Order: sequence, then C-alpha cells, then structure tokens
Amino acid sequence: MRIVVIGAGAMGGLIGTRLAVTGHHVTLYDTWDEHVAAIERSGILITEYDDSILRFRIPATTTPPALDAVDLVLVFVKSYHTASALRPFAARLPADTFVLSLQNGLGNLDLIRAALPGHERIILGTTAHGAALLGPGRLRHTGKGATMIGDPAQPGNRRFDLTPISRALTRAGFETTVAENIHTAIWDKLIVNVAINALTALTGLRNGELLDDPELQPVIAQLVDESVNVMRAAGVPVGTHDHLAYARKVMRDTATNYSSMLQDVRNCRRTEIDSINGAVTRLGAELGVATPLNRLLTVLVHNRERAARREQPPTTEEESPDG
Ligand code: NAD
Repeated sequence: MRIVVIGAGAMGGLIGTRLAVTGHHVTLYDTWDEHVAAIERSGILITEYDDSILRFRIPATTTPPALDAVDLVLVFVKSYHTASALRPFAARLPADTFVLSLQNGLGNLDLIRAALPGHERIILGTTAHGAALLGPGRLRHTGKGATMIGDPAQPGNRRFDLTPISRALTRAGFETTVAENIHTAIWDKLIVNVAINALTALTGLRNGELLDDPELQPVIAQLVDESVNVMRAAGVPVGTHDHLAYARKVMRDTATNYSSMLQDVRNCRRTEIDSINGAVTRLGAELGVATPLNRLLTVLVHNRERAARREQPPTTEEESPDG
C-alpha cells in the first residue's frame, strides 16, 4: 500500500515506520522542522518497550505530499490540529483513498468530514498501543494492546472491505480487528480517558495511584456514569460493558504511567481535554444530560494549562512542538 501519515509524532511515527518496515511505501508528513530534518538525516529511532532499538530510514517531509495513488492516509495529529492539518489536502484527495484516524477522543470524525467535504472513505479506530516522543526523530513505544477500526457512517453494513488495512496493521505489529460498531469502541476508550486523564493532570498522580485514595473513587465513578449516560443518549450501543471496572483495570495495568494529559500539562503543551471531558460536556448539553463533574474538570484543566504555561519553562524530555 502507499501510505501518507499526517502528524508523524509519537503514534504516527511509530505506526508509519512499522508499516514501512513490513514493506509498505510510507511517507511521513509533519510540520515540525527539526523532527523531519532529524528523520531525513539519520532515520527514525524507535526504542521498543523491551528496550530494543529500531533505526529505520523513511521518507519524511514538511511539504504536504501529493496523494495521487495513495491508498491510505493516517491522521495522527492531536485532535485540535485535525482541521488545520487536513486543510492542504482537501482539494487533492482521490475519492478511493481511505482516511483513517486512530486519534483519541470525540469529534475527530466531524473535524475530518468538515475538512474533507464529500469524502466517503473516512474510517475511525482506536488503539491501546502507546508511544511518546523523546526528541526530534526519536520516540519510545510505551505500550501495546488491541486496535480496532470501522466505518463510522454505516456501522455493521460493511460497505468497504477494511480487511487489507486491518491485515497491514496486524502484520506491522498492531493486532487489528474490524469492529461491528466502531462508535462503541471509541466511547469505551473515551470513557477510560475521561476517568484517568483530567484527574491525573490535576493531581500529578500516576494512573495507578488514582485507585489508592478512597475519596477519589466516587469522583471516578461519577465521571464514568455521566459519560455512559451521554453515550446512551447519543444512541451508541452500550452493551454489557462495565465501564467503571474497565477504567479501573486500565489504571492497574498502566499503574506506573504518567498520562499523556499530565505530561502535556507538565511540558506546558495544550491538552486534548476539549475532545475528552469537554466533548462529553458539550454533547451532554446538546442532549439534555447533566455532566457537572466533567464540566468542572474541563474548566480546571483549562486553568491548569494556562497556569503551567505561565509558571514552568518547557522541559526537554518528551519534547514536542504542540502548543
Ligand atoms: P504527538 O504530539 O506526539 O504527535 C503529533 C504530531 O503532529 C507532532 O509531531 C506535530 O508536529 C504534528 N503536527 C501538528 N500540527 C500539524 C499539522 N498541521 N500538519 C502536520 N503535522 C502536524 O501526538 P501523539 O501522542 O502521537 O498523539 C496523536 C493522536 O493519537 C492524539 O489524538 C492522541 O490522543 C492519539 N493517541 C496517542 C497515543 C499515545 O500513546 N501517544 C495512543 C493512542 C492514541
């Protein structure tokens, strides 16, 4: 497959490189000059979770690449950059090119649709793999887990054959299944992020430490309840999934991790709060579902972001140009 990655940071760099290693023709596109220059100069350097190192030469550019004959575009910018990142491609995207977003949060589909009006082949997904930028041209693969993709427009209908994409991702090391209803998978992951990200960003706790404080448990339970109520009101099938138990399992499984939102705040970067607790709050307001705690955490994280920018100089660790 010919593949272009838009936003070749931690996750885009990881997945794009792994796809290239398994024989696909991948181009990384990113607006971060230093990062692209480092990749062009010496290739991309990936430290795996077992500490093994992969250095791989892969085309990278800061100029929006041509998309003729490109089979797949992977969108891996932060959600708040989605619209601006896709703008250069709006007029030149072939109708048969798939656009896949594995970004976290809610609202990416609307942003992509608005940026690429009329484009049919937009697919969404989630991945439990994790990665972190270490500096220009360098990243760490921090975690692994399931990846799911699906057609958000017609769940279950299978109007497109997504198996070539799921097979390519699986062969590249990201075990992928095609979901019956990708919205359910996205909400299931969103609710984990709702329970973990803002609370860790505000408290400075590691993911697992959220379970240690009895006073936090009803807070976590309410965040999850509010979100499940909005999910139901939005007509997304909830099934029998126990969102609170799952969020607590993820806290245990990633006990020593600092969440991405905590790292963003610490490094004075903008967070994705508006597409996580903020998105639940906005959709709740539209659907008449109360989300007071999600609203409060959204406001608090906005203030934490502003305070972090005022107080702290950025550190060089996990360096990134965002914000
Ligand atoms: P990141 O900050 O490491 O990478 C984003 C990249 O986008 C940066 O290199 C930045 O320079 C680039 N960028 C910004 N504006 C751009 C533009 N206009 N055009 C092209 N490139 C641009 O972010 P990340 O951690 O890889 O996260 C990307 C998305 O994946 C987010 O939505 C995140 O929630 C999601 N996600 C991340 C992880 C993880 O572990 N990092 C896991 C699952 C999902």
